[in-house]
Amino acid sequence: MKAEILHGKPIAEAIKSEVAADVAQISEVNGFAPGLAVVRVGEDPASAVYVASKVKTSEELGIVSRHYHLPPETSHTEVLELVQKLNADNDIDGILVQLPLPNQINESEILEAIDPAKDVDGFHPVNVGRLAQGQKALKPCTPAGVIEILKRSGIEIAGKNAVVLGRSNIVGKPMAMLLLQENATVTICHSKTQNSAEITSKADILVAAIGRAGFVRGEHIGENAVVIDVGINQVTDKEMARELFSDEDFEKRIAAIDKRGFTLCGDVNQREAMEKAAYFTPVPGGVGLLTVAMLMKNTLEAARMRRKL
Ligand code: NAP
Repeated sequence: MKAEILHGKPIAEAIKSEVAADVAQISEVNGFAPGLAVVRVGEDPASAVYVASKVKTSEELGIVSRHYHLPPETSHTEVLELVQKLNADNDIDGILVQLPLPNQINESEILEAIDPAKDVDGFHPVNVGRLAQGQKALKPCTPAGVIEILKRSGIEIAGKNAVVLGRSNIVGKPMAMLLLQENATVTICHSKTQNSAEITSKADILVAAIGRAGFVRGEHIGENAVVIDVGINQVTDKEMARELFSDEDFEKRIAAIDKRGFTLCGDVNQREAMEKAAYFTPVPGGVGLLTVAMLMKNTLEAARMRRKL
């Protein structure tokens, strides 16, 4: 085994401690703490878990959090009115509407209704445009977390060949923009790219965000590449698990499949990445842990910018 594992936990913990210290200082000097409103509509079980973790973490860091849980039949207008009310609420610095929303609600209209100054997910077209122009912007949490992993692990980005697999608005595109801002030479591959292995194997930094379990194989990875695995997928098949995980990891993965029916894996074949890459982020335990930490950092940043702190 060759690759050094880049663990997300110590980096996420460091970011959260920094945010907590800054929040405490703001509270002491100004008599208020940054406020985050989290809106959830319906009963999607994954959303419930994500929102609970966001609310809990904000409370741990001293951020004032408000959780709005609306019934599944809530209308588009009702969600819109709540967003407008939160836009006008001076105690709220960040608004997060948890996706996916039920079908009767127009997701992009809701996201565009959020005041860009409070858009802590960084999905509003104004923030996307600012990011593209290299201006100060609230940045999408997951790709911003990847940049933190690279920087805090002492990995040089400037001048490196970076390849992003995936071009979603949530991960792939903003990831490419952030790497470009850090002066990498960036290539994006997507489902229509031909010979993607030829392109990805030349990357110094390879970010995989496609949502396909173990798609990135040894042939996609250059010697000494830094491989960042954003994917989160469920593996239920034990034979597939044998192909994906190293011998050291395998027994634990089988135990997870026996216990709860699945184990989590990324978009990269972990066994083969470990043999070939220089650095590798595991799933779970890598990028995923950074997303909530970056949301907290964005809420602090939004409070600072909006209230001119
Ligand atoms: P998405 O919206 O489904 O986008 C997937 C992207 O991958 C699309 O751009 C698609 O290309 C591309 N793609 C699909 N198959 C491909 C292939 N064979 N070769 C190259 N590109 C291919 O997914 P997403 O929201 O970006 O999420 C990607 C993964 O990251 C998922 O596993 C998701 O669960 C995970 N994720 C993790 C976090 C976290 O906190 N760690 C946060 C968000 C997402 P086209 O555009 O051509 O269709």
